[in-house]
Amino acid sequence: MSNIDKIFASVRNEFPALTQKVHGKKLAYLDSAATTLKPQSVIDRITQFYSFETSNVHRGAHYLGDVATQAFESARHKVAEFLGARQTEEIIFVRGTTEGVNLVANSWGGTHLKEGDEILITEMEHHGNIVPWQMVAERIGAKVLAAKILDNGELDLEDFKAKLSKKTKMVAFTACSNVLGTNTDMTLLTKLAHEVGAKVLIDGAQIVSQTKVDVKAIDCDFFVFSAHKLFGPFGQGVVYGKREILDGMSPYQGGGSMIAKVTVEKTTYNDVPFRFEAGTPHVEGAVGLHAAIDFVERIGFENIHSYEMELLKEATAKLQAIPDLRIFGTAPNKGPIISFNLKGAHHSDVGQILDQEGVAVRAGHHCTQPLMARFGIPGTVRASFSVYNNHEDIDALVKAVVKAREMLL
Ligand code: PMP
Repeated sequence: MSNIDKIFASVRNEFPALTQKVHGKKLAYLDSAATTLKPQSVIDRITQFYSFETSNVHRGAHYLGDVATQAFESARHKVAEFLGARQTEEIIFVRGTTEGVNLVANSWGGTHLKEGDEILITEMEHHGNIVPWQMVAERIGAKVLAAKILDNGELDLEDFKAKLSKKTKMVAFTACSNVLGTNTDMTLLTKLAHEVGAKVLIDGAQIVSQTKVDVKAIDCDFFVFSAHKLFGPFGQGVVYGKREILDGMSPYQGGGSMIAKVTVEKTTYNDVPFRFEAGTPHVEGAVGLHAAIDFVERIGFENIHSYEMELLKEATAKLQAIPDLRIFGTAPNKGPIISFNLKGAHHSDVGQILDQEGVAVRAGHHCTQPLMARFGIPGTVRASFSVYNNHEDIDALVKAVVKAREMLL
C-alpha cells in the first residue's frame, strides 16, 4: 500500500456509514457530489452541541446563551479563515448554495440590476445558479445569457469573452461542474468580468471539498457553498461577499436579529452580516461546519487533491475500457466526478443495477437541464469520489457497470 493510500485508509475509518452493507453488499458510496458522508468528528461535535450547549444565539442573558453564541461566531471566524476573507463580517450563514444565490440575486440584484442589463452564466450551471437569476431578471427586465461549453466539457472561453459587454452586470459561474467535473479558471473569469465592470458570483458547491479556495486571490465579489458537500451538516451554507458590497445591499428577508430598531412605522437594519440572517439561525449547522473544516484541514488539501486525482485517473481509465461507454466531460482540469452513459441503455436502469450491487451513484439530469440539452441527452450516470473512497470502490463500480451492460445491451 502506498503512503497516500495508507493515510486515506485511516480517513475512511472515520466514516461510520461505510461500515454498513446495502442489499447484502459492501457499500461503495460514489455519490459525494450530491452530498458527502459525515466523519465521526462532525457527528460528535453536533451531538455535543445538542447535548450540552443548546441555547439560542445573540440573545441569551445567561451562560449557555454565551456558549452557543461563541460556538456560532467562532464557526463564522473559521469559515472566514478557510475562504481567505478579509473580515469575519464578510461571512453570511444561509441554508445552502441555493439560498446563497437567491440572497445575492434578490438583495444585490434587486438594488443594482436595471432593465436591459445582462447576467452572464454558463451552460453547465446547476439550476441553483440559473433560476434565481432568471427570476430577478424577469422582474426587472434584465436578460440571462449563457456561455457555451465545448465538446470535452471545458468552458468555451471565446464565447464567454464574446458575451461579456458593458451591459453585463453580473457574471455567475460554477467553480466545478457537478456533472462534467470541469474546473473553471476562477481567477481568469473574474478578471475578465471585472474588466467590463461586472460583479462576480462563484458557485463553490463542488470545489470546497477539493481544493483550497482563496477569495482574496481570486478577487470574486461573492462566493457561495453548502456545508453538506464538505462533510458537514445539511441546511447550512455560506455566502462570502466583499464587505463594501455587502454594506450597500438591502436585506433579503425580514424578521428578528436583522434589525437595529423597529417601530410600527419603520425598521432600521442591523450591520453586516446580521442584516442578512433573519430569524434563529441553524446554529448546530454552523458548529458542524466548523468541525468539518477542521476535518479537511487535518487531512490537508494537498493530500486530498493527490488522492482524488489518483482515484479519478484510475476510474476513468477502467471505465473507458468498457465497450459502449461514453464519458461526458474530459477537461484536462477536472474534479473527481465522472458522468457516463452506456449507449442504448437508460441511465436510470444502469443506476438501479449499480444500486443492487451496493454501488451508490446518481442517475438523472443532476439539476442541469440546459447542460443535458447541450449534449442532447436526458441524463447520465454519475460516479463521484471523495476522501473515503478506495481502489476497491472503483473495482466494484467497474464490475457493476460491466454487469449492467450485459443485462441491458
Ligand atoms: N451548485 C452546484 C454546482 C451543485 O452541485 C449543487 C448541489 N448539487 C448546488 C449548486 C446546489 O446546492 P444545494 O442543493 O446544497 O443548495
